[in-house]
Amino acid sequence: MSVSSADTEAFLSHDYKKTILIVRYGELSLKSKGVRDRYEQILKNNIQQMLDYCGVQYSQVQRDFGRIFVHTEDIGAAAAVSRVFGVVSVSSAYTCSSVPEDITSLCAAVGAADIGSGETFAVRARRSGNHSFTSNDIAKECGDAIWNQLTENGKTPAVDLKNPDKEIFVEVRQKQSYIYFDALKGPGGFPTGTQSKMVVLLSGGIDSPVAAWLMMKRGVEIIPVFFDNEEYGNPISTEKAIENAKVLLRWMPGRKHKIYRINHGKYMEKMMATAHPKNICLLCKRSMFKTAGAVMKKEGASGIITGSSLGQVASQTAENMLSETYGLSLPLYHPLIALDKQEIIDIAQKIGTFDISIRSNGEKECLAVPDKPEVKALLTAAADEENKMDFDLDAFIQKMVEDAEIIEVKF
Ligand code: ATP
Ligand code: MG
Repeated sequence: MSVSSADTEAFLSHDYKKTILIVRYGELSLKSKGVRDRYEQILKNNIQQMLDYCGVQYSQVQRDFGRIFVHTEDIGAAAAVSRVFGVVSVSSAYTCSSVPEDITSLCAAVGAADIGSGETFAVRARRSGNHSFTSNDIAKECGDAIWNQLTENGKTPAVDLKNPDKEIFVEVRQKQSYIYFDALKGPGGFPTGTQSKMVVLLSGGIDSPVAAWLMMKRGVEIIPVFFDNEEYGNPISTEKAIENAKVLLRWMPGRKHKIYRINHGKYMEKMMATAHPKNICLLCKRSMFKTAGAVMKKEGASGIITGSSLGQVASQTAENMLSETYGLSLPLYHPLIALDKQEIIDIAQKIGTFDISIRSNGEKECLAVPDKPEVKALLTAAADEENKMDFDLDAFIQKMVEDAEIIEVKF
């Protein structure tokens, strides 16, 4: 059966609208049934929250054997869902029953409308459930139907199964079938909230927002913590850190979020009074770790994320990282440790933090950094410097956390 071009236009403007999103997910489908059920439910809720946050109109979000379907005609829906952690890809699809005639006529109408004259095409079909036909049968019938329709519309059809200009995907499920042309990539990973909360040491730089995002991708809900070095810092770092925190938190809308801004200037002043200048960065970092540990405890979180990348700057040699944490028992995560700067920049650009991170007012971001910082610290260098300071550091850290400015954000 073929449809005339006038009919094709009528179909496209009335019956043949894309009315559904097919949402695919990856690694979570490898989980045992109970865990998968729970993760899928969380993913479904997160998708709804993202759709609501993006102002997308939809009537239903539905789970169905390894897929989530969103009933929507909103053209912004696929882009919104492609920002949900756990989603591998999403396609905006036409849908019809799984009766072969319905599939082929829908394919003929929407396929022929999409394929230009002289463009090659291929139909890719997959099927799940019990039917009287195979996926090859339906691919062939759809291909024939599109061919006839193109001819009738005055276009020259050409099939190329290897390297076509246009691909038409047909997904046949038990009662309902779906036809689509492309898929938007999602971030993959696990849905937000499937792993526990973690504190992230978020500076104004390029790296730490990327580190946070990579952990969010694994299902972690983040609590950003920024250390404001006050007279040793630069106000632009504070602005950038808070803006980047908000960009990150928009990847997990629908929850109440907190950003901690901790005044770290007094501590800097105290340690600079006694520390050897070359060890200042070691001590500064050690204090950030300890204070983040106190925030972690207070928030019931279970890890601390940093943007450290091995050897990238003086503070990030293996010796320094070891010395900074010597004797501390803290669950530190450094997801960028083995990434190159360019790899980090590529992710920063993709997630929307890069342009914020590179802003500069022409001033140094930290005035406390010595000319020649230690790059090969002795194991106990940072702890020894700490012991030289004549005040109760634990109490000082508790006070920094108590006095922190907590910025509440809800999207
Ligand atoms: P970034 O690019 O993330 O700013 P960086 O390359 O400047 O990091 P360092 O200053 O050595 O490198 O910092 C390493 C990590 O320590 C950062 O990625 C971040 O996790 C944390 N950090 C550094 N400064 C701060 C700060 N002021 N507030 C919170 N975390 C910080
Ligand atoms: Mg860095």
